Amino acid sequence: MLKNITIVGAGTMGNGIAHVFAQNGFKVILADINATQLERAIATITKNLDRQIAKQTLSEVQKQDTLNNLTTATDIAFAASAADLIVEAATENTDLKLKIFKQLDEAAPQHTILASNTSSISITKIAAATNRPDKVIGMHFMNPVPVMKLVEIINGYATAKEVTDAIVNLSKQLGKVPCTVNDYPGFIANKILMPMINEAICSLYEGIAGVEEIDTIMKLGMAHPMGPLQLADFIGLDVCLSILNVLYNGYGNTKYAPCPLLVNMVAAGKLGVKSGEGFYQYTSGSKELVVSNRFKQ
Ligand code: NAD
Repeated sequence: MLKNITIVGAGTMGNGIAHVFAQNGFKVILADINATQLERAIATITKNLDRQIAKQTLSEVQKQDTLNNLTTATDIAFAASAADLIVEAATENTDLKLKIFKQLDEAAPQHTILASNTSSISITKIAAATNRPDKVIGMHFMNPVPVMKLVEIINGYATAKEVTDAIVNLSKQLGKVPCTVNDYPGFIANKILMPMINEAICSLYEGIAGVEEIDTIMKLGMAHPMGPLQLADFIGLDVCLSILNVLYNGYGNTKYAPCPLLVNMVAAGKLGVKSGEGFYQYTSGSKELVVSNRFKQ
């Protein structure tokens, strides 16, 4: 039985993952090396629970129960010491994740499953940093976690079937829809999404259409809730570039080569919502978009 859950990393994803586990009755320790991030995460979770109350999808009692299920820690080894499952959602950096998994492997009980929320780093490689590669798995939640139904579950080369089964069942207990895939670059979600975004950027770069035309065609023509260029701005252009490089290097296929316009925009610090400008312009601290004229035909 997976009862005690530790989340490592309290950023965008970590707070959402902690929220969902705590709301579904699990005891959660949210751990981060940065105490300010933990304070921010609890404030975000509280705000999001209040939003659920306003929408009448949650009661005041459920909000209190959720918050009571949550504690925070800056001592990662302590946070790992009584966990049945640890979900790592720290910064997307291979060396950092290898270091964290080694530390978690040393601190956690033998039965503990170690999961990573990584978008693109090899689960097999992360597992190889531990002495329990059979108990290491990918648990790729989507942003925003409380809203998005999918959990992409990634089997590393050595992941045991019982571990996959346990994580599939657990995801269902969270009200999510799990889909299991094998560990190859980009898994499935990003192996398909990123080439689409890259193709949209290349179409702009080649002057075939403008930002609004490309996004409107994909929104209205393909029933996508958001166009690929706006989605790239939301994800972060640096993140898109880094995932495309993982695909490009991992498969050794030029079809994944990042568009030169994307490379240039990242070099210029135009990262999308987080920097205030990408394919669109944004007012600071908001996802409200102000359409940019820069790329108009
Ligand atoms: P983020 O930058 O918002 O948060 C990362 C957190 O990790 C920070 O709070 C940081 O203090 C903490 N951290 C760094 N080093 C640490 C350590 N040694 N121990 C504990 N905590 C540490 O990042 P994010 O967007 O939440 O992404 C986290 C993970 O989730 C990444 O692997 C990313 O690829 C993946 N992911 C992100 C998204 C997304 O849309 N943001 C979607 C799916 C998956």
